Amino acid sequence: IQTKLPKVGTTIFSVMSQLAAEHGAINLGQGFPDFEPPEALREAVSRAMADHKNQYAPGIGIGPLREQIALKIARLYGCEVDPATEITITSGATEALFSAIAALVSAGDEVIVIDPAYDSYEPAIELQGARPVRVPLAQPDFRVDWQRIREAVTPKTRMIIVNSPNNPSGSVFSRADLDELAALTRGTRIVVLSDEVYEHIVYGPEGHQSVLRHPELAGRSVVVSSFGKTYHCTGWKLGYAVAPTALSQEFRKVHQYLTFCTFNPAQWAFAEFMADCPEHYLELPAFYQAKRDRFQALLKPSRLRLLDVPGGYFQLVDYSAIRDEDDVDFSRWLITEAGVAGIPLTPFYAEAPGTRLLRLCFAKSEATMEAAAERLCKL
Ligand code: PMP
Ligand code: GLN
Repeated sequence: IQTKLPKVGTTIFSVMSQLAAEHGAINLGQGFPDFEPPEALREAVSRAMADHKNQYAPGIGIGPLREQIALKIARLYGCEVDPATEITITSGATEALFSAIAALVSAGDEVIVIDPAYDSYEPAIELQGARPVRVPLAQPDFRVDWQRIREAVTPKTRMIIVNSPNNPSGSVFSRADLDELAALTRGTRIVVLSDEVYEHIVYGPEGHQSVLRHPELAGRSVVVSSFGKTYHCTGWKLGYAVAPTALSQEFRKVHQYLTFCTFNPAQWAFAEFMADCPEHYLELPAFYQAKRDRFQALLKPSRLRLLDVPGGYFQLVDYSAIRDEDDVDFSRWLITEAGVAGIPLTPFYAEAPGTRLLRLCFAKSEATMEAAAERLCKL
């Protein structure tokens, strides 16, 4: 059969979750919380269903939810976005990323992707007949090397995809990174696709450096976020895209024929919960910082070397003191021999750097973290 995506197999997240289930391993691989979304939010979904919100939503998402998102963006990033023309509700961040790429990238274009990169970007680019140009983050701290990015830009460059906080490394943008990105794209045809799904999980005092804080960048960016990450409900698959009107118009052309609209009851629930409980996202950094610090304390006696985690809910660990093998082999060994699942970094790269690093998710209950740490400390 003719394949459009010859390099693509099953994603590492599905592979590792399935292996973990087969071996009864504790799953710190695929990134999802093992605790529940807020009760008031779950009740609000049930109420929306009882209240007959069970048919198609407007394609761009319900007005009250888009308004709440605009309020949040104004409050956190000092940016005025028009909920009528600049915000679109999507089926998770994954759909928003795909719609943005399909709407804005054409055959023959180049798209700069910064490695390690989330795995859904590249296939979406290739399906357009465009070429991903992959540039690695600097080692060992996973900062963007802007000189290398500048060297990768050509007249064919149509888009650059950035992801802060970064999955899997947890590195975050500084204000200086935003300035570099603005200078790089100034006066060009380059659109920025900014994957900010972990926007509310940033630990440093400066907070999240959204491209929406930077008026010049906001004018040529599509910003993508996910309710799944912020509200502990990855299975609801709700996200959104924010972009200036002209870009949103193109985005919506694809969105309306890809999914048309997304799960209506959850949209009503989020509109209500965001209005009633903005503390939820305001308190999320402290919530996850406590988990991060607890997980690091539990792993301290182990032979794993822990890397810094400036953002996101993943801990990178260097396992070279335990076994000298590549990360895919090590993660399989860890599931079968130690009963813990993580995610290797190799699948996030075009060219694997050969580091001995594994990604462990700490969006987990105390009991799960303790049980996993007990196993990891024996190695
Ligand atoms: N981008 C990144 C960086 C992610 O980590 C994820 C979720 N794992 C997504 C996008 C997709 O988010 P969603 O589940 O809302 O589709
Ligand atoms: N974003 C999640 C992660 O990085 C996985 C999402 C998925 O399974 N596609 O673990």
